[in-house]
Amino acid sequence: MNLRVIFLGTSGAIPTVERSLPATLIQRGREMLMFDCGEGLQRQMVKAKVGFHRRTKIFLSHLHGDHVLGLPGLLQTMALMDRKLKLEIYGPEGTRAFLECVRESLQFGLTFQVEIYEILDAGQVCDEPEYVVETVKSNHVMKSFAYAFVEKPRPGKFYPEKARALGIPEGELWSKLQHGETVTLADGKKMKPEAVLGGARKGRKVVFSGDTRPFRGFARFAAGADLVIHDSTFDDALGDKAEEDGHSTPSQAARLAKASKAKRLVLTHISARYIDSSLLLEQAKAIFAETSIATDFTVLELPLGE
Ligand SMILES: [Zn+2]
Ligand SMILES: [Zn+2]
Repeated sequence: MNLRVIFLGTSGAIPTVERSLPATLIQRGREMLMFDCGEGLQRQMVKAKVGFHRRTKIFLSHLHGDHVLGLPGLLQTMALMDRKLKLEIYGPEGTRAFLECVRESLQFGLTFQVEIYEILDAGQVCDEPEYVVETVKSNHVMKSFAYAFVEKPRPGKFYPEKARALGIPEGELWSKLQHGETVTLADGKKMKPEAVLGGARKGRKVVFSGDTRPFRGFARFAAGADLVIHDSTFDDALGDKAEEDGHSTPSQAARLAKASKAKRLVLTHISARYIDSSLLLEQAKAIFAETSIATDFTVLELPLGE
């Protein structure tokens, strides 16, 4: 299953010529999981050619305008395009009222069902057959959440030679065993998948901080992530401002990525004051080498591990 992260908006607070407002997309197979919906998102989606009809879940980190004002336009466009599939939206308390107010004022109809889930506390927010999304309260200037997309472990590697040696005929039974099911052989003997499979293989994990100061528990929440996407609004010299506005600096993000033993870190939500973001990158890299800075339309492929 392909897993790809596409940065559709990487600026904080106000857009710049180079950067649109926050939106980060995980594409998994034919499904999309969107983290925040900054204004201008639809056009970024058109440019990135990701489509408007796919199975989609949206996760809002908090209700600041730069993270949610793309949502009304997105819903309207999806309706104009005659979307049929249900859309799931997860966000803090107030998400429902925000969307109801917009729909009432703009009076547009929808061609599809919208399910809104307001998150009140940390925990698992959705549980799909192959992955879960977890959340934890973050530390911004209003109610805010960080999210982790976590794939469930996959069944281990299949060993055909073991299956043959055990007298399991090739075909349907092999396929069931490969998918982790116990099968019954012609002689009535039950065969467990462990008999022909190696150990379960770890899924992939992507963690998205949203706007936040560094907070206790983040490293544990992000433990072992393949990718941590973290707020890095201001450079280290503006640490006091970051603290005041509820944001993080490159060094803070890098220390958290290091503590969580993440494979890589991407800094985002870059303040419009940085025409050149190399200063931010240097500050983070001094602590955590596997760091890069998101730019709009950066695409990261996350391959399956063995
Ligand atoms: Zn923001
Ligand atoms: Zn914010």
